Amino acid sequence: MADIIHLLPEAVANQIAAGEVIQRPASALKEILENSVDAGASEIRVVIRDAGKTLIQVTDNGSGMSEKDAEHCFKRHATSKIHKVDDLFAIHTLGFRGEALASVAAVAQVELKTRRRQDDMGFSIQVEGSKVTKKAPCQILPGTILSVRNLFYNVPARRNFLKSNTAEMRHITEEFQRVALVNPEISMNLFHNNKQLFQLPEARLRERIVAIFGPGYKEKLIPLEQQANDIKISGYIGKPQYAKKTRGEQFFFANKRFIRHPYLNHSVENALQELLPGDSHPTYFIYLEVDPKKIDINIHPTKTEINFQENQLIYALLRSTIRQSLGKYNITPAIDFDVEQSLDLTPPVQGKPIKNPFQRGPVDYNPFGNHSPRRKDASSPSSPQGWEKLYEGLKNIPEASASKPDAPECFPQGEGEGRTVDFCQIRQRYILTGIKSGMVLIDQQRAHQRILYERFLSQLEQKTHVSQQALFPQNVTLSPSDAGILREILGELRVIGFSINHLGKNTFVINGTPAGMKEQNMQDLMENILENYKRNMVELNLEQKTNLARSMAARIAIRPGKQLSQQEMQSLFNDLFACHIPGLTPDGKKILVALTGEQIEQLFKQ
Ligand code: ADP
Ligand code: MG
Repeated sequence: MADIIHLLPEAVANQIAAGEVIQRPASALKEILENSVDAGASEIRVVIRDAGKTLIQVTDNGSGMSEKDAEHCFKRHATSKIHKVDDLFAIHTLGFRGEALASVAAVAQVELKTRRRQDDMGFSIQVEGSKVTKKAPCQILPGTILSVRNLFYNVPARRNFLKSNTAEMRHITEEFQRVALVNPEISMNLFHNNKQLFQLPEARLRERIVAIFGPGYKEKLIPLEQQANDIKISGYIGKPQYAKKTRGEQFFFANKRFIRHPYLNHSVENALQELLPGDSHPTYFIYLEVDPKKIDINIHPTKTEINFQENQLIYALLRSTIRQSLGKYNITPAIDFDVEQSLDLTPPVQGKPIKNPFQRGPVDYNPFGNHSPRRKDASSPSSPQGWEKLYEGLKNIPEASASKPDAPECFPQGEGEGRTVDFCQIRQRYILTGIKSGMVLIDQQRAHQRILYERFLSQLEQKTHVSQQALFPQNVTLSPSDAGILREILGELRVIGFSINHLGKNTFVINGTPAGMKEQNMQDLMENILENYKRNMVELNLEQKTNLARSMAARIAIRPGKQLSQQEMQSLFNDLFACHIPGLTPDGKKILVALTGEQIEQLFKQ
């Protein structure tokens, strides 16, 4: 019988390897950018077309390559960065595997133009599906221009697998930002379809962060600085009062490489534990420098997960560094807290004591406008089980004002017209009321979230423009990627009741808000809504309308700590039971707890 094992042709082998290294345009960009950094460039310019599906072009003024190197660099395991096994344990460059360019060239049409400073002429080479199609001398400034066209043109399955341009562009922006955050001394520009998204001049780290994420960051950062046991920690941590509901800007870099490290993330959250509201996450830009011998970066092909030999030591050091810095900068957050949480924040090293952070934030939305969500459909099959028996009859519930004579019997107990105390607010957070069959305890924030969600969603679906209240115009300036998202949902925001216009570049003006919403800081409001929106988009892949309705509701809902009048509680109660699913928040959290009369009796039987 004939032998059946044979070596795969190089082009096929490269294509298989490419599957691991190049998953999407952003991963190609990452590799190419890192090569420019490794080549010592001080200026990098990135030009993207169609979210990288048509073109990814990176121009740098780095070392350039000789003619021979330019031919070699597309071969697999061709690298100038390591020579022997020992080098693997002392890597100081970003690349070392020598497979990035080979992989890109296997799945795209690539053109490389490159020139070393000492050469008079440059050299240009074109490679398509791992085959060299053209070579020629060329005129070019010292440095390298690498153009990747039609990524995955020869792997339709992968090309079809690519996400929308918005999603792919988000990945590209992320990779660009990560490289920009470790190389503030490199001037970096990013263009997409002839629009400039980032213009980052050479800067110090703080200025670079501000240039990327917006001027708001100037006030938000506390520096970190520590050196001990051969470990260096530097960077910035966001002041706790600016913590976000989503894991937005959280960056760890180890030896100039972006890494993910849940264990160290835990160390940061732990250091800030008592200062953060329960469901929010800190912003941080943390740079670790560790002896390369003590890192294993080779455990994952995309190299964002790494192992430190001294994980626990770094954990402890990071935590104490953060606490020290908080102490030094005397952080006094103004955020909403559960007051009974104890504050144990003794900095391990001498420093100023930390002020009591228990200061309440403003509660700034009046939920009790005269809107009412869709009536609960009696035959709605989607209601959760169990508690709804308690509310039989609630579907006919009247509006807030009504203590109409025909109010259903399970309505809060009271003696006819003019009754006053039907609802009781507990710890400015829960609403307790009696109903015919027992009693119900409602979480005010979650209830309001459900009400707003259904209201916004129905407005978006029916495109019924709702009333607005005029606002003293406020400008909002966002990061380029946030501005891109906001532009996409402007129409929807108007349907919901915002009067908002794009002023150009990344700035918008807001002239009006949905009726019932108190005037507040629009910059914060928009950033927050977008944070939620992005998280839902990435983590839950929500459809645009649902996502927007959820994000708005989450941001605007009243918080614990808001004192409610009888009428407000009544109104919230009515609106809640007019919802399709009064028992759960849009993200599935329990809104209410009900006890039947029998259950209450049981409690007293012991
Ligand atoms: P690695 O970066 O792992 O060495 P790559 O496939 O990314 O592998 O690159 C192969 C080689 O090509 C690099 O080692 C480097 O010598 C050369 N190279 C790639 N891009 C550039 C560039 N922009 N400027 C100078 N040399 C480059
Ligand atoms: Mg490389």
